[in-house]
Amino acid sequence: MGSGLCQVNYMAQREVMVQSQLINRDISDTATLAAMRKVLRHEFVPENIRDMAYADRALSIGFDQTISQPYMVAAMTQELKLKPGSKVLEIGTGSGYQAAVLAEITDSIYTIEIVESLGKLAKERLKRLGYDAVLVKLGDGYHGWPEKAPFDAIVVTAGAETIPLPLVEQLKEGGRMIIPIGPHNGVRQLIRVVKRNGKIKTKEMMAVRFVPFTRIKEH
Ligand code: SAH
Repeated sequence: MGSGLCQVNYMAQREVMVQSQLINRDISDTATLAAMRKVLRHEFVPENIRDMAYADRALSIGFDQTISQPYMVAAMTQELKLKPGSKVLEIGTGSGYQAAVLAEITDSIYTIEIVESLGKLAKERLKRLGYDAVLVKLGDGYHGWPEKAPFDAIVVTAGAETIPLPLVEQLKEGGRMIIPIGPHNGVRQLIRVVKRNGKIKTKEMMAVRFVPFTRIKEH
């Protein structure tokens, strides 16, 4: 099939994804839906599984990591309640897909990836697709990105056991963080953290499975 026809086919698949996996569940935020309609998810998955790019599931992207299920990306994005201009920090760049979705809503995205090869690939891919607003850093996201703090929103896309304190510190007053928390390799809860008067309030959103949040050992 010529690439023109392929693009049309992928566009149709995206529309079905948005209707059946997002709108038919509980995604109603118009900015999130518009972003999910726009981002070429098939560009963020390995070539040999592109035909599954819009399926209702997470997919392997190599290095033992995954690109999250479309619904999970949309649910986390919706909960961040972004406005154009919001400054966002993502921990766990992975394929770069979540960062691209965020970049359709606001133009100030910082993302950190611990697996160097993945981070480099995502950086190139985001650049090629025109997402110049996304800055990718390689390293342990536990420490956040202090030079760019504070952030209106923080999204952690790997499952941690506890909420990293540096991330709480780097959240703006009134800011929101979404993070999967729970036991290693178990079912975790997606937690929404809101910071008010320097204190945090947390709320469980739903049970989720995520690849683990890893750490670089300090000497
Ligand atoms: N947001 C990604 C999903 C990636 S899966 C996407 O849209 O494709 C989670 C990612 O978090 C993995 O790539 C993993 O390597 C990364 N990760 C795990 N622990 C991390 C840490 N401490 N700092 C930064 N990235 C981390």
